[in-house]
Amino acid sequence: MILTDTHTHLYSEEFDQDRNEMMQRAINAGISRMFVPSIDSNYTQKMYELEKQYPENVFLMMGLHPTYVKENYLDELAHVERELASRKFHAVGEIGIDLFWDKTFLKEQQHAFQHQIQLAKRYKLGINIHCRDAFDEVFEVLESEKATDLFGIFHCFTGDFSQAQKAISLGMKLGIGGVATFKNGKIDQFLNEIDLKHIVLETDSPYLAPVPYRGKRNETSYTLLVAQKLAEIYQLPVTEIAKITTENSQQIFGI
Ligand SMILES: [Zn+2]
Repeated sequence: MILTDTHTHLYSEEFDQDRNEMMQRAINAGISRMFVPSIDSNYTQKMYELEKQYPENVFLMMGLHPTYVKENYLDELAHVERELASRKFHAVGEIGIDLFWDKTFLKEQQHAFQHQIQLAKRYKLGINIHCRDAFDEVFEVLESEKATDLFGIFHCFTGDFSQAQKAISLGMKLGIGGVATFKNGKIDQFLNEIDLKHIVLETDSPYLAPVPYRGKRNETSYTLLVAQKLAEIYQLPVTEIAKITTENSQQIFGI
């Protein structure tokens, strides 16, 4: 069984004490494919080192995360552009809009999001979307960029059924993680009405650990817990969930 974690921050400081053990736990649990989103230029070297250490397991994205869009965001976008031009990545991400923490840079966030979607199109890559308290704003940008070459993953999807349908109609798959295992997570209530071909698995580790680790540090090996929850929701064997969601991830990442 091969499982794919489509969103994991393996370079996080939270793993500095036991990263190799954490990676081994994931690989031993069958999560042999780990896709790593970029946050900002501070982590780029660490991402390259991880890829070098685990070339069979670690696959990189490049992008500027919306909560890191600040006064210097044009320099950060230039970094994203330079890296995309210099080597192979598997998606542009994570990109999007986050109005939960701070609305000061909304205009800049919108601009950075749109610009990076255009970069993804230039390199024929998918996008990995981060959206928090900003569904309308994210959909507005996606609508303006809607095209056959717009595709990707709506990471940590937490919307309702109609927002799910809208995201899918805009070329996105839904990234489902620990929230689906929460009692008040809501997403589990309509997920079985969404065809499994639109679903990919993720952890977003070290954040949003699934039950029974809710509130603790998350890690990629817990992707299995998310797969087990989906097996319950879709009434399918976990091996079938693994097979289909891994195929879905291959469509987006090209590998
Ligand atoms: Zn993330």
